[in-house]
Amino acid sequence: MTEQDKSFQADAGLEYALDLLRHPPSDALALPTALAEQGIGEQATLQLLAPYVLGQASYLDSAAACAHMDPPTPWITWATSLWNARLNQNLLHPATAPFARQAEEKVIDWLAPVFGMHGGHMCSGSTLANLTALWAARDSKQVDKIIASTAAHISIAKAARILGLPYKQIATNPDGQIDCAQLGNISNACLVLTAGTTATGVIDSLALAGQAKWTHIDAAWAGPLRLSAKHADLLAGIERADSVAVSAHKWLFQPKDSALIMFQQPELANPAISFGGGYLAAPNIGVQGSRGAAAISLLATLMAWGKKGMAARIDQAMSMATILAEALSKEDKLSVWAMPITGVTVFRPLHISTQQLYQRLPEGIVSTCMLDNQQWLRSVAANPLADMETIIAAIRGAIK
Ligand SMILES: *Cc1c(COP(=O)(O)O)cnc(C)c1O
Repeated sequence: MTEQDKSFQADAGLEYALDLLRHPPSDALALPTALAEQGIGEQATLQLLAPYVLGQASYLDSAAACAHMDPPTPWITWATSLWNARLNQNLLHPATAPFARQAEEKVIDWLAPVFGMHGGHMCSGSTLANLTALWAARDSKQVDKIIASTAAHISIAKAARILGLPYKQIATNPDGQIDCAQLGNISNACLVLTAGTTATGVIDSLALAGQAKWTHIDAAWAGPLRLSAKHADLLAGIERADSVAVSAHKWLFQPKDSALIMFQQPELANPAISFGGGYLAAPNIGVQGSRGAAAISLLATLMAWGKKGMAARIDQAMSMATILAEALSKEDKLSVWAMPITGVTVFRPLHISTQQLYQRLPEGIVSTCMLDNQQWLRSVAANPLADMETIIAAIRGAIK
């Protein structure tokens, strides 16, 4: 390698990469089967990989993409992700991330008050955000157990296992919310409420927030509704939580890995989850060590769209779910589990098996979930570019 190793410079290859992105090639050549001694160079590599990475991708902005909580991403985040990759800033070290740390503070300053929180940090997903919150609950308030409903995300069970805390799962009521009548004594517990359960999008009664020793609200999916003037009230009471987790790579349209953990009292929570170290100029807060500048993409999106622009996309997705559920409930061959609360529509066929209908539907329209030992189909409105007419027509066609 010479002093001017071109592999580390902005190169015309970047424009080529953009061309491939705009016009994904489809004819794939065989990939090398073993690690070669000699590389083939950047441009040839992009050419070889593009038919796989781009050509065989499932595009989350396609008219039929409606199956998962993964949204399409706005192009401004593609641009900032490129900048991030070029700079490789590390939030752990102020010296390598002078602006990225400010960007994260700004994003937290802007978003924490939306949830009644006063600080926090970003992490790679709500799995980690939930673990971080429960860690803070254990070590700042000495909670003796974790309580959540059977509809809570598996990340709560993981966190309980990692933290060595007993985990008590409470049955749900007929609406899919944690059954308040079965809570028992929660005065020393960490109560986890879900705002937007993964299977059905149900919101637990947030009136329970503030009654346990620590209340964590897992708002991984539905948290962004707080930005919508139309739907913010669905999450009324969230401001009484001790901590809130939100996945920005779901309904804030961010590339992975982007999530927020926010605290009511960061001055209490942060010391419980911070480590200093000889080589660290600033304490390392949270579970992750090195981490990237996801805040820059989120900041850029919030600046480009504003609160109204973000809310408009979420509102659009919410009304799509309503349109879908209303259309499906008119079909006598289908049972709709309930009207969607946070953009998740769950239904199943009555005349054939759920699996049969699933196989008849085009890829990407629905996913499956288990509820009360029965398999259901699930449509998630994370894609504001989905075409409900196409999707409804596909489902109608498949149940004929
Ligand atoms: C998606 C989800 C999670 C996990 O979030 P990741 O960002 O995938 O780690 C946790 N809780 C709920 C309710 C979710 O929907």
